[in-house]
Amino acid sequence: MAGGRRRGSGSNDKDDSPKAKINKENIRQAMVLFNYLRPYKGKFILSLVFIALSAFTTSLFPLFLGKMIDAAAPGTTTVPAAGSSSMMPFGEQLRNLNWDLNTTLLLIFIQLGFQMLFSYMRVYLLTEVGERSLAGMRKDVYSKLLTMPMSYFSEKRVGELSNRISSDLSQIQDAISFTLAEFLRGIFTLVIGLVFIFWISTKLALVMLAVVPLIAILAVLFGKRIRKMARRAQDQLAESGTIVQETFQGITVVKAFTSEYHEISRYVKSISAVVDTAISNARYRGAFISFMIFSVFGAIAFVMWYGVNMIRSGELSLGSLTMFVIFSMFVGGTFAGFADIFSQLQKTLGATESIREILRSEGEPVSLEDAGAPEHILHGNVRFDHVAFSYPGRKDISVLKDLNLSVAKGQQIAIVGPSGAGKTTIASLLLQFYKPNAGVLYFDDKPADQYPLTQLRQQMAFVPQEVLLFGGSIRENIGYGKPGATDEEIREAAERANAHEFISRFPETYETIVGERGIKLSGGQRQRIAIARAILKDPAILILDEATSSLDSESEQLVQEALENLMKGRTSFVIAHRLSTIRNADRIVVLDKGRISESGTHQELMLQNGLYRKLNEMQFEFGVETQSL
Ligand code: ADP
Repeated sequence: MAGGRRRGSGSNDKDDSPKAKINKENIRQAMVLFNYLRPYKGKFILSLVFIALSAFTTSLFPLFLGKMIDAAAPGTTTVPAAGSSSMMPFGEQLRNLNWDLNTTLLLIFIQLGFQMLFSYMRVYLLTEVGERSLAGMRKDVYSKLLTMPMSYFSEKRVGELSNRISSDLSQIQDAISFTLAEFLRGIFTLVIGLVFIFWISTKLALVMLAVVPLIAILAVLFGKRIRKMARRAQDQLAESGTIVQETFQGITVVKAFTSEYHEISRYVKSISAVVDTAISNARYRGAFISFMIFSVFGAIAFVMWYGVNMIRSGELSLGSLTMFVIFSMFVGGTFAGFADIFSQLQKTLGATESIREILRSEGEPVSLEDAGAPEHILHGNVRFDHVAFSYPGRKDISVLKDLNLSVAKGQQIAIVGPSGAGKTTIASLLLQFYKPNAGVLYFDDKPADQYPLTQLRQQMAFVPQEVLLFGGSIRENIGYGKPGATDEEIREAAERANAHEFISRFPETYETIVGERGIKLSGGQRQRIAIARAILKDPAILILDEATSSLDSESEQLVQEALENLMKGRTSFVIAHRLSTIRNADRIVVLDKGRISESGTHQELMLQNGLYRKLNEMQFEFGVETQSL
């Protein structure tokens, strides 16, 4: 019967969205995650023992209460009932045992004392085990994600990903520290409760079990419908949440277009949908609640009526009936709780699925230890040999086609071309974010894949278009280029990056906090910090993605100077957006639709009537136009 009801609540949950079915295969796979529990195996098992003990001691409470009532009303002592007593002799003795009132109270307090200890231990131990093993899992998931290839990040939305992972991990944590305990406690309570109920009076137990499953089945069916409707209301609520979020994110657009009125009516429409759904849900919920009140209390009244009749006929004592009712409540409550526990367990299985997927996937072969000085020193010769490339997500579009480019140590190469030509892609290939589909990329006459990945990246520096500073001090942000750099080295790098001056104007100088919670730096200042970071790294190969948005002219001059300092003596690839900055480059490569259409010095290219000259003229015209406006 218990099994039947458990199945009922299980099937009730299976249409809840991110859940996995509880089946053998799923459970077997999720067990892989139990490896994280292994170091705390002893404590985990001990906590399971405490769960069992605490369930058992809880069950003694109604027994003692019953005995207490019998002590108060000795007249109603049980007459040994021949028909219902097929229990073992000890049970028989216990049933007929009468303690006096004070002994019972004493026993209750002893029981409560144990109960306190067991409950404390189980909560404490399980939380410790849950937190510790989760920390291990968190670390592995984070490490795995960090080493994932770039294609992974371009395919997935990072915000969504990290939200998903943190919620999945907390779901698992909850399962270890809470749901699992509740589940086991439920099973113990159920078994112990049922044994007691049958022990007290088999007849009454059978009467009760004839009524209750009927109510349970109806409750499950009702509950299923209600939950479906509640989910619809939740989805609608989420939708109106999205409207709020969107409008605040784009508040400048909303205000500039004076579309407040439009947004408000959009929002009102969405919340009235929520209200409508919620109100129609209320009908079902109301009916459900009144039905439950009627049936639960009705069932209790019926069982009581039957029990009192049994007392009258001398088959049962008043204390035993009390025990029976309390035990029945335990059992009923446990049943009711199982629906939720099952849904939680299913969600947990679903959560382990995505975590397992991450742990299983293969990351880049980067070193996860402090790499130290590289063994393979790069000189800075780079050669693209018939390189062709298309992004893993867009295999049909070939971004680079048969690219040949040979760069000698210390040369400065500017890459120009219309947007979408593949300039950034070249930088990504250099940094080994992706591998060419055809052809080979050589570093010092050795194919890239013959170097350990970490060592290659260790000797390259990348200054991106939009510099993102990590939350922390300026010193930490520059020091990112060289772990363990001294203050002196950091200051020197900042000086060469033309950053020292503005940094020393801050009251806290190098300790000034930047990033999301810190002060806001201008684009040019951030660039110079990124340049200082690169100078500190002292790489053989430099990749610069020039900022597209123009800096003010003073800032531009300072950044340009800093870049010149940085590029000295290194092989540099400059993705240029403003052609004025690259006139002195050793070679300018013009990229068009994934191919090199021209290459040479500024003077050489200006003599040709090609794309470079056209681009130069366009920028010039644009410049004149803006000035005249
Ligand atoms: P550029 O830097 O010259 O503006 P990119 O190298 O960024 O050009 O892009 C070249 C082409 O590759 C473009 O057509 C762009 O749409 C495509 N592309 C860039 N990044 C990705 C990506 N992560 N996945 C798929 N396609 C991409």
